[in-house]
Amino acid sequence: MNSHKKLLLIVTIMLLVLMIAVVINVALNFREYSYKSALDKANSTAEYVRDGLTAHMVNGIMEKREFFLNNIKNHKDIKDFWIIRSPKVVAQFGPGFKNEGARDAIDKEVIESGKMHYTIKENSNEVSLRVTIPYIATAYGSPNCLECHNAKEGDVLGAISVKFDIQDTRNAGILTIIKIIVINIVFLIIALFSINYFFKPIMALFHELSKMISYARMGDYSKRITLRVKGEGEEVVEQINTLFEKLESTFNNLKNSLSTFVTSSQITCQNPLEESKKIINELSDIYKFKKTIELDRTYKDIFERIYYILEERFEIKNYKFYLIDKEKNERELIHQRGDIEECDCSDVDKNAELCRAFRTQNEVLSIDFKDVCHFCKTNSGTEYLCIPFDINSELAIVISIYTNDMDKYNQIQSTLVDIENYLEAAKPVLESKFLMQKLKESSLKDGLTGLYNRRFLENFIEKFAKQADRAEKSYAVLMIDIDFFKMVNDTYGHDVGDTVIKELARILKTNIRSADMAIRYGGEEFLVLLYNPEKSKVLDIAQNLADKFKNIEFQAGNVSFKKTLSIGIAYYPQQAESLWQAIKFADTALYAAKESGRDKIVEFDPQMYQNGEKY
Ligand code: GH3
Ligand code: MG
Ligand code: MG
Repeated sequence: MNSHKKLLLIVTIMLLVLMIAVVINVALNFREYSYKSALDKANSTAEYVRDGLTAHMVNGIMEKREFFLNNIKNHKDIKDFWIIRSPKVVAQFGPGFKNEGARDAIDKEVIESGKMHYTIKENSNEVSLRVTIPYIATAYGSPNCLECHNAKEGDVLGAISVKFDIQDTRNAGILTIIKIIVINIVFLIIALFSINYFFKPIMALFHELSKMISYARMGDYSKRITLRVKGEGEEVVEQINTLFEKLESTFNNLKNSLSTFVTSSQITCQNPLEESKKIINELSDIYKFKKTIELDRTYKDIFERIYYILEERFEIKNYKFYLIDKEKNERELIHQRGDIEECDCSDVDKNAELCRAFRTQNEVLSIDFKDVCHFCKTNSGTEYLCIPFDINSELAIVISIYTNDMDKYNQIQSTLVDIENYLEAAKPVLESKFLMQKLKESSLKDGLTGLYNRRFLENFIEKFAKQADRAEKSYAVLMIDIDFFKMVNDTYGHDVGDTVIKELARILKTNIRSADMAIRYGGEEFLVLLYNPEKSKVLDIAQNLADKFKNIEFQAGNVSFKKTLSIGIAYYPQQAESLWQAIKFADTALYAAKESGRDKIVEFDPQMYQNGEKY
């Protein structure tokens, strides 16, 4: 039942209760009043009869009293009337007329008791009041009763019984009650009509407003009050509609402005306020992530954060994280988590273009098409999602996520856009970290040969020495110099000289182990640090390098020529107290090699130092 109907019902019930209360009250009052007035009349009649009879008695015309009594009897309100002589009066004056004796038990009782009695008779045919009033002898009245009657004070001389017809009074009462009921019903109708007229639109407005608010609670602020109301209501409707218009446009603007910052998979509901809240939370999380990675030292630290986000925030348990070198077109698996079947991906690692996600720069979803990526094969039941992400012109990443749970798959798919938001936030920071690293590396590397330079050696030599000491390992230091190199420049030009230097660098790079290190120490001087070599093999290694170089035929126009190397060798810690000192000793040995005619390999001998040949 709506509020309007409820109000009408309440008002109707209240008015009906009020009407019934008034009617009962009026009916009771009316009844009491009609009996009281009949009793008053009876008393007046009794007095009147007593006075009339006394007058007849005093005037000695008592036998003519019938006329007087008949007159009273004929009165329109009096239905019946008779007088009763008490036994004392009968004894003194005789029984009187034949109808002046006690007619019934009531008469007798009143004569005996001297107390008034009245009875009411109410039925469908009549409403009457019968009153029997005693006459009590008294010496104090005028005239004195005791003067004529043989009676003493308080004796009952007689009684009068009167029957009044009070039908008219009852009818008047019923009429009054009918009038009251009619007036009440008219009032009720007017009240209901007024309520309907004045309250119905307000109730309808209230109803519309409550509907509008419940829509707004679900995020739909587009509803308006269309109801036509007059007066103050019209103004209220206008203000509420304006308020909702403003709320709708503000929340939509807010949502639209915020969604330009982040595309979120979670924004699926129609509630702009709720959406804005989600976007703000998302932005706040991404902001915190960005702030954190900005203070990270290297891009590898940032990758660690991305792994954490993938595992903790997105609950991804099985994935591979690839770094792609765009210039080399090579892919490297730099992180793997979870139980993923092994695959031979060497083809893709060597040719990153084979990776569909990297090549197309689009997400690759295995559920889209059977064997969508020919190079990402999995067991039946395992599905994958690959996310490519470009960091800069040189590097990109690809994240391959695996699962065999379709619910999980769908959940991950729905959050891909969120993962991309994090990657997007990390992009500028990753770019700057890569650039920093590159700058750092370039300052430590030689531009012509790509080998580490002398600055690198100066920065890290202590570290290398300490590491070797801790691990009780050794170094063989090879100081290498091209013999008569100046002549190449002078004869064939600087460019040919550069080619010779580059060729030597290539030979050094390709003929040592990854634990060893080749450094361009000076113009055409190179240093090779052999990590923990077998002493017996050091000379062979040096000889191999020298032989490889010696066999190269350099071209300078139509002319070809060959060059030789001189190599000095020293050992750390066997010969020197520091690695740096071993380098000096190797240089001393080199000097000895040059001195002894070049194209030689000479191991350092403490004698050389003591003889002070060079130092
Ligand atoms: P030796 O070592 O046998 O005593 O004779 P050398 O002719 O090699 O003697 P030296 O060490 O004096 O000459 C080195 C020359 O290398 C001098 C310099 O002009 C040249 N040089 C240094 N760096 C470069 C470079 O980057 N490119 C070219 N083309 N020449 C360089
Ligand atoms: Mg030289
Ligand atoms: Mg030199």
